[in-house]
Amino acid sequence: MSSSKNEPSFRQSVDMMFNRAVRLMDLPPGLEEKIRVCNATYTVRFGVRLRGELKTFTGYRSVHSEHMEPVKGGIRYADSVNQDEVEALAALMTYKCALVEAPFGGSKGGLCIDPRQYEEHELELITRRFAYELIKRDLINPSQNVPAPDMGTGEREMAWIADQYARMNTTDINARACVTGKPLNAGGIAGRVEATGRGVQYALQEFFREPDDVAKANLSGTLDGKRVVVQGLGNVGYHAAKFLSEEDGSKIIAIIERDGALVSDAGLDVEDVRNWIATHQGVAGYPNATYVENGTAVLETDCDILIPAAMEGVINLDNAARISTKLIIEAANGPVTAGADEILREKGVVIIPDMFANAGGVTVSYFEWVKNLSHIRFGRMQRRQEESRNELIVNELESLSKALGSTWSPSANFKSKYLRGAGELELVRSGLDDTMRAAYQSMREVWHARSDVKDLRTAAYLVSIGKVASSYRAKGL
Ligand code: GLU
Repeated sequence: MSSSKNEPSFRQSVDMMFNRAVRLMDLPPGLEEKIRVCNATYTVRFGVRLRGELKTFTGYRSVHSEHMEPVKGGIRYADSVNQDEVEALAALMTYKCALVEAPFGGSKGGLCIDPRQYEEHELELITRRFAYELIKRDLINPSQNVPAPDMGTGEREMAWIADQYARMNTTDINARACVTGKPLNAGGIAGRVEATGRGVQYALQEFFREPDDVAKANLSGTLDGKRVVVQGLGNVGYHAAKFLSEEDGSKIIAIIERDGALVSDAGLDVEDVRNWIATHQGVAGYPNATYVENGTAVLETDCDILIPAAMEGVINLDNAARISTKLIIEAANGPVTAGADEILREKGVVIIPDMFANAGGVTVSYFEWVKNLSHIRFGRMQRRQEESRNELIVNELESLSKALGSTWSPSANFKSKYLRGAGELELVRSGLDDTMRAAYQSMREVWHARSDVKDLRTAAYLVSIGKVASSYRAKGL
């Protein structure tokens, strides 16, 4: 977090970025205000009896925009959760969903709790009680408000929430659609856990398909060999770093965690570091890299791509001038403050903004919600039919080759790939890739077409505010 007194709060920072963009549009002032403000924030304080005493917890669910319903957004568990943060995150959800055309309004929830201080059965009690408070006010509901995981929560918490909702709504046939990010056996979807990190990879792949954009960041070529620094090896950072290093040939030269950073010019083995963290609760002592205690300073490492995948506000007025990367992709929500954004823009650093970069999570949540409402797994009807049609073609080609007296036959590799019908995971990845490509192109078009739009963030706001505005207009507002 920034120590500068000039740094606005997270919500103010989001509003400043919104205002910068909206100045370039000609929306009626009333509509502009309607889109910017948060519709409602519900604060709940509830007690849970733990370890022989009654403990009171504070939680929030904020609804930013209901231009489309249900509203959507994760539930965060962290000590630092507060109303300002939850409202900023809810606003980002509105813009994110609009940009990637997920048919939702924006919402976000949070509980002030350090989940590491509690046993699993205690967390279950707390989560169920929090869910109960939200469910009875329709702040969790398949057609009105659909939460998902965020920092400090995951599949386990979502399964408890889904079960709590089902217990309180025994005749709701769509109960499972009340929350996304559930485990597969509780109505989840293949590929949801990896989705946000996968989306970061697809976002970068699409960026690197555009040589003009790559040149704007003073880079060239492909992702292969690019030197990457990742902050946060949680679910998002881990998957992004893993896929970029294992599939695109990028080199992870530093990983920053809570207790310090690991640096290695030769590149870190992401899986190995992740396993080390799981057994040692931190990166200190990891044998195959240099350990730096002051992790924040490692954000300033000279690199090609910086991936902040932890908290908001980590690149701020204190350190922005010293950031030495060419490209930042905001895997976290709000990692760059409005002030830092300005400094980095002047330095020529290209920033792929959060509302696009980390939209993979909500995109696959959308697929999960549709799956829950349709009560059928994606691919179940067509997979084998697709396989038998492909087999027909391959067999026909083989007999044609024989009839022509040729010894040609399709390679085993082609056959195995072509013959396999798409299962749920392949379909989810394909839908996600398509979404990320289309959203990138919609931002890019504005970035290139308008001389008054100098950065991707402003372009992203223009596209998403435009979409929100047209749905408000369609409602007659
Ligand atoms: N918490 C994630 C986000 O910030 C996912 C939200 C969702 O899937 O609804 O985008």
